[in-house]
Amino acid sequence: MDRKFDTLSSERIQPSLETGKAAGLRQRSHGPRAFFTALFLITVSLACGPAESGPPDNLGKEQLYGATEDRLYLSGQFDPYSHPDFVSLDKSGIQVSRKGMVLRKETVEALKKLHYRFKKDHPEIRFWVQSATRPFYSQKGIWEAKWNGQRKVSGKDLRTVKDPLERARMILQYSSMPGTSRHHWGTDFDINSLNPAYYRSGTGKVIYEWMLENAPDFGFCLVYTEGRSGGYQWEPWHWSYRPLAAPMLSDWNRLYEDKKIRAEFAGSSAAFHLAPEYVNTIGAACK
Ligand SMILES: [Zn+2]
Repeated sequence: MDRKFDTLSSERIQPSLETGKAAGLRQRSHGPRAFFTALFLITVSLACGPAESGPPDNLGKEQLYGATEDRLYLSGQFDPYSHPDFVSLDKSGIQVSRKGMVLRKETVEALKKLHYRFKKDHPEIRFWVQSATRPFYSQKGIWEAKWNGQRKVSGKDLRTVKDPLERARMILQYSSMPGTSRHHWGTDFDINSLNPAYYRSGTGKVIYEWMLENAPDFGFCLVYTEGRSGGYQWEPWHWSYRPLAAPMLSDWNRLYEDKKIRAEFAGSSAAFHLAPEYVNTIGAACK
């Protein structure tokens, strides 16, 4: 872990209070010219219908995926490090566990504001991003290391579990199948510790409770909440930027049903049908 954390460059980030209107408002003299301008504007607005500033769930394909094909984007089969809508966390002022991590620029902008507020409330507590975007191949690495016994799951070498479905379910307690992870999307990230016990007391508990109360103000939701029946375990560290992630989730489901989300990895033929159950068993605030 990189312990040389940047000293709060986020303090320089001021929450945006601009409405954009103040600068544009000027006193105008009322005359025939103003009347015709107003008439013209009314005509144009009637012809064009309501302004294109609908709720975030109405984001179009272009805004969500850029030039990347939706099914490839949503299954992590593209390069986020060269995608124009992704930015590095390195110069964001947000503390990170290692260099080179990226997220969607919208996620980073919201996270900078959240981080600023958190440091204001708790200047003594370190808050960092532990893991951010993970493309298909890196999720495949995690999955297959567990599948093949290179990485133990709850102290167990999974090669001893012969039933492929049972083996998949064991990995699925905490790890997604490649092609089904929200970490592909640039909207989701893990903070501080990946150990549930960390959030039960002390600093971890302070962070968790602060996030539950304040993160929604910045557009973030806890995906794997406590007390769900089914799906992944409770993940108090995994947060998601809902304005992008909610429409992405609904696209993922539609494309999965159309068999357009495809993924090949160890055990995929036995386990890939489980994906929707895990992808959709999430906290209500993220839906
Ligand atoms: Zn996560």
